[in-house]
Amino acid sequence: GAFAQPSLKRVDSVCPFCGVGCQLRYHVDENDRIAHVEGIAGPANEGRLCVKGRFGFDYAHSPERLTRPLIRRADAPKDPTAIERRQTAQEVRELFREASWDEALDAAAAGFRAALGATAARGRASPVAGFGSAKGTNEEAYLFQKLVRTAFGTHNVDHCTRLCHASSVAALMEGLGSGVVSNPLRDVEHAELVLLIGANPAQNHPVGATWIKNAIRRGTRLVLADPRRTELARHAWRYLGFSPGSDVALLNAMLHVIVAEGLTDPAYIAAHTRDFDAIQAHVAAFTPEAMAPVCGIAPEAIREVARAFASAKSAMILWGMGVSQHAHGTENARALIALSLITGQIGRPGTGLHPLRGQNNVQGASDAGLIPMVLPDYARVNDASARERAEALWRLAPGTLGAEPGLTVVEIIEAAYRGDISAMLVQGENPAMSDPDAAHARAALAGLKHLVVQDIFLTETAALADVVLPATAWPEKTGSVTNTDRCVQLGRKAVASPGEARADAWITEQLARRLGLGWGYGIAPDGSGTGDGAQGIGAVYEEMRALMPSIAGLSWPRLWRDGAVTYPVSDEQDPGQPVVFTEGFPMPEGRARLVPAALVPPAERPDGEYPLVLITGRQLEHWHTGSMTRRSAVLDAIEPSPVVSLNPATAERLGLRAGALARVRSRRGAIALPVRVDEAMPPDTAFIPFAYAEAAANLLTNPVLDPLGKIAELKYCAVDVRPETHE
Ligand code: SF4
Repeated sequence: GAFAQPSLKRVDSVCPFCGVGCQLRYHVDENDRIAHVEGIAGPANEGRLCVKGRFGFDYAHSPERLTRPLIRRADAPKDPTAIERRQTAQEVRELFREASWDEALDAAAAGFRAALGATAARGRASPVAGFGSAKGTNEEAYLFQKLVRTAFGTHNVDHCTRLCHASSVAALMEGLGSGVVSNPLRDVEHAELVLLIGANPAQNHPVGATWIKNAIRRGTRLVLADPRRTELARHAWRYLGFSPGSDVALLNAMLHVIVAEGLTDPAYIAAHTRDFDAIQAHVAAFTPEAMAPVCGIAPEAIREVARAFASAKSAMILWGMGVSQHAHGTENARALIALSLITGQIGRPGTGLHPLRGQNNVQGASDAGLIPMVLPDYARVNDASARERAEALWRLAPGTLGAEPGLTVVEIIEAAYRGDISAMLVQGENPAMSDPDAAHARAALAGLKHLVVQDIFLTETAALADVVLPATAWPEKTGSVTNTDRCVQLGRKAVASPGEARADAWITEQLARRLGLGWGYGIAPDGSGTGDGAQGIGAVYEEMRALMPSIAGLSWPRLWRDGAVTYPVSDEQDPGQPVVFTEGFPMPEGRARLVPAALVPPAERPDGEYPLVLITGRQLEHWHTGSMTRRSAVLDAIEPSPVVSLNPATAERLGLRAGALARVRSRRGAIALPVRVDEAMPPDTAFIPFAYAEAAANLLTNPVLDPLGKIAELKYCAVDVRPETHE
């Protein structure tokens, strides 16, 4: 464009933000800075980019980047309330002194050795835990879980997938034997009908939303089910604005209609599923008339949508955090799976189940084993042969890896709060902002004897650390990344990292060596990589591939050659498989299991004291806890400050005008922030994005967990909203 700087260098890579996985080209100027970015023809985006991919790159060049390792000063207090008191960046910085890499890595390793040496406890009871990252590469995720499992002797390793699609994956594993999407997002173009529930792709998967709009233009019917009348509602054939937390009531009523009216696919059910009788019996009582008062959707609307879904030649289901982030998230996903299976809407183009992954690499980090119950490629830790394979590859004594799954994100925080976990390694995650009941999470982090944080900024979590290790940003390193479609792509290093920042993979290898593991990958400190699979980051990938049948046919040199391949991919000639479950499921006899979904209400209901429902989520411009996007000039200019969105009638009843300061209070905390009046909001409901430290939505949220997925109910808690009064 006319304003573009002349670029000295062009590097093709992948967007660092969402799970759509758009491919882009960095244009690097003569000062080794990214001057601008353009979309290129990757399989997920065909040249398209959203505002984050196009303009959200200057965080990498922020003057706030960490450039030297930091060690907490001996007299610096760990005050978990400092973030709420709006501690300045300067005050946080003064808690630390600069250190050399050797000193910082020695201190990091010594703290873990001390914690482990103080007790003989290992496995679940280990005093050490690690949070890896869904924003790093697959190789970094793989190395991180290997470090925790081998150096710390525990499966207490998890990442933000726990706060994202853990419940969806629990239901998919139980029902289909695999947690991955069955069809790529762009398959909406082959669907006659798309059911989109609990997701707001126009904000959170924006390029994905453009594919949905294209499909609609060509005749696809969109059914949007969401308590908020989000942007795609304008394009929807039917919009179902159901009451927050009543997903199962709506979905079971749809299942009831399909069964009662004989709209199932009996041949598919007979050939590919089991336990249909259980579903049939279970949904008998869920008549649309009985469920209408629960979900707020008229019986005729439920019938119409159920009939259209079942009778469409191809119908696809897409869902997001609105489904998964509930204490009954697994139940919600079970109902969606049943809907797809009993109508035979799976295993063909334009059908299937697609939980929209949030982070750019949440799929890949999960695949790589950054989960407490599974090793790479979802091999369960309680499967002896899976443990033996990993032990042999990792050259561990037989029996080193435990059979008991480790603790999950929220359980680790709880164990830290109790003092059972005393040391943590956190790579690129920000639990002080992202975890539910943030005041509790911050107290837990502050109470740790030893906290090591690897990040590119001094985040709210890093502010509570003993050792902070400066990492490289996405455009500064090379590695593989896997999008929501199971497509493995190559992220390439475009610019040098500032100061002494080092790649997370290098940091992990250095820590491993100091903890007595004889790792010899020879990972480059600057995060660079070559197409050579024998050393460096390529050697890590090849070791990981040896444990992952899903990518058996995707060697590191092939990834460099092809740039993007969708697994499963069995050999070098296999082009990859965008649509799976075409012949059945990875389950006994190849049959999927139908599991009835129980109607479980949200854990905390509105009452006289807390009369509104709070929904938390993201915005188009801001990514998760905001550490990157709030340091990106364009994005920050568009959405500079936190807001609470309210329906106009609700705002008026509460005496709040647009722009007025509101105080939002739950049983766990309170924040003050300006009101945005928004017609898309249902009545008596508030929406707050969780990107803003100065009014952290997670101070309010409920840490109650889904019993199976162990995900917190971030989409529902009771709050009181009123005008803020200054005494
Ligand atoms: Fe990046 Fe997602 Fe936007 Fe694509 S849609 S440019 S991957 S944030």
